[in-house]
This record gives sequence, structure tokens and C-alpha cells, in this order.
Amino acid sequence: MNCIFCDIVNHKANAEILFENEKIISFLDINPMNYGHALVIPKQHFENFLQVPDEYLQAMVNGTRIISQAVNKSLKPDGFNIVANNGRAAGQSVFHFHFHIIPRFHDDGFKIKLNLKKYQNGNLKLFGEKIRSEIK
Ligand code: AMP
Ligand code: ZN
Repeated sequence: MNCIFCDIVNHKANAEILFENEKIISFLDINPMNYGHALVIPKQHFENFLQVPDEYLQAMVNGTRIISQAVNKSLKPDGFNIVANNGRAAGQSVFHFHFHIIPRFHDDGFKIKLNLKKYQNGNLKLFGEKIRSEIK
């Protein structure tokens, strides 16, 4: 399988590595939304959030906090986003699951234009029921 993130894990591709341990590795995104934009990935290949086993997810969450703290202290952003895209429709372009940590500034100019919907005619309850019915 051809995967650029697996290549980074195996040191076959270069990356500006920030941190690594037995289960995860973190490095700078090569096309940052802001400087210091970092990624945290599992060292095993899992395509998306739903496929990551608990032990790896836990390591990813811990690693994401370690990197967020370091980004916060070193770059002093006004805030930061933690984002994970799952599936092409959601903007995923590398199909090796990862968290983005994106430093944000009041004047950084990113305006996400959302087309927010309103629930109508009992739809809120209906969607609640649909989702609850699949929680095991
Ligand atoms: P996503 O669109 O959520 O799948 O995010 C993939 C991210 O990986 C993008 O922000 C890319 O800029 C980043 N990326 C792709 N190739 C590399 C690479 N070789 N080194 C570092 N970041 C990369
Ligand atoms: Zn991979």
C-alpha cells in the first residue's frame, strides 16, 4: 500500500518530527493553515476514526494534548483547532487517520462560511432517535 504517512513512520519520507513514542508520531503539516500546524498520527495504518483501536486512540489523544500544550507555549496563538477529517466528503486527503492541531489568531482571516440548517416539524427528535437507536 502506498501511504505517505506510513513512509514518514518508517523514516522513508522526510518530515519535521515534533514527537514520537511507541504508538504515535507528530510532525509539522507541509502545507500549514498557520505556521506550526501539526499532525498527530498512529504508527499503524488505520484509515479513519472508526477504525482506530482504543489503545491507539488514547495514545493519539494524549499526544495531541502534549503537542497542543507545546504549540500554545511556544507560539502563543489566540486559540487552536483540533480537527479530524473522515472521508473525502469531509475533506480527508490522506487516508491514514490523523488529528490536525492548528494554531489560530484573531486576525488570521479564516472565515468558514457555514450554511447552518434549522430543525423543523419534530425533526430534532427524529434525528435524535435515529442516532440513539445505533448506540450499543
Ligand atoms: P487531510 O486533508 O485531513 O487528510 O489532511 C492531510 C494533511 O496532510 C494536509 O494538511 C497536507 O498538507 C498534509 N500532508 C500531506 N503530505 C504531507 C507530508 N509529506 N508531510 C507533512 N504533511 C503532509
Ligand atoms: Zn499509512
